[in-house]
Amino acid sequence: MGVKLTREQGRLLYLIHLLTRTDSEDEVVWVKDLPLKALLYQGIIHGIFDWDYAPQSVLFHGRRKFINVTQEGEDDINDLREIGFVDKLRLSTSEHTHINAYRLSEKGLEAVEAITEDDQDAVEELIICPKCKKTRDVFVEATEAYFFCKSCNKKTPIDLLGIEDVPYITEPFMPRIALLEEVVRHGD
Ligand SMILES: [Zn+2]
Repeated sequence: MGVKLTREQGRLLYLIHLLTRTDSEDEVVWVKDLPLKALLYQGIIHGIFDWDYAPQSVLFHGRRKFINVTQEGEDDINDLREIGFVDKLRLSTSEHTHINAYRLSEKGLEAVEAITEDDQDAVEELIICPKCKKTRDVFVEATEAYFFCKSCNKKTPIDLLGIEDVPYITEPFMPRIALLEEVVRHGD
C-alpha cells in the first residue's frame, strides 16, 4: 500500500465503511454529509478523533443553524477523496440546494483492510449497538439526531450540542419525508 494514512484518516475511513457497508451486491449505500458531521463531532467528544471543531452555520433542513463542525475532519474527508479512497455523490434536496454523500471506493475497501484492530474497536464503540453489537443507523431530523438499532428496536439520541436557531425568514413547510433519510440506498 503506497499511501500512509494518519490515525484520524484511518478511523474516518473505517467509520464511513461501517456506515455504508452492505451485504447485498445490488445495494449501494451512501452516508450524507450532515449525519457524518454529527458523528465526527461525537467522535471528538468521545476521544476517538483528535480534531478541532468550531460552531459553523449550516443549512439544516431548510434553516440556518449552528452546529459544531470540524474543519480538520472535513480536510481529512477531502484527503481521502483525493487519494481515491472515498467517492462523493452530490444530491439535490427538496430545498433546491445540494448536499454531499460519501462511500468507500474499491480502493478504499482494500485500504480499510489495513486499519488496525485498535482503531476499528475505537470507531465501533461509537456506532455499534452496545446490546446486540450490530451497526446502528443514524437519523438526523429537524430537531434531533439519533442512533437506531433495528435488531433491538431502540432509539438513542445523538447529542447535537451547539445547535441553535438563528433568525431566519419564514420558509414554506418542507415535506417531512424528505428530511428523514440519512442514508441513500440505490439499487443498481
Ligand atoms: Zn441492538
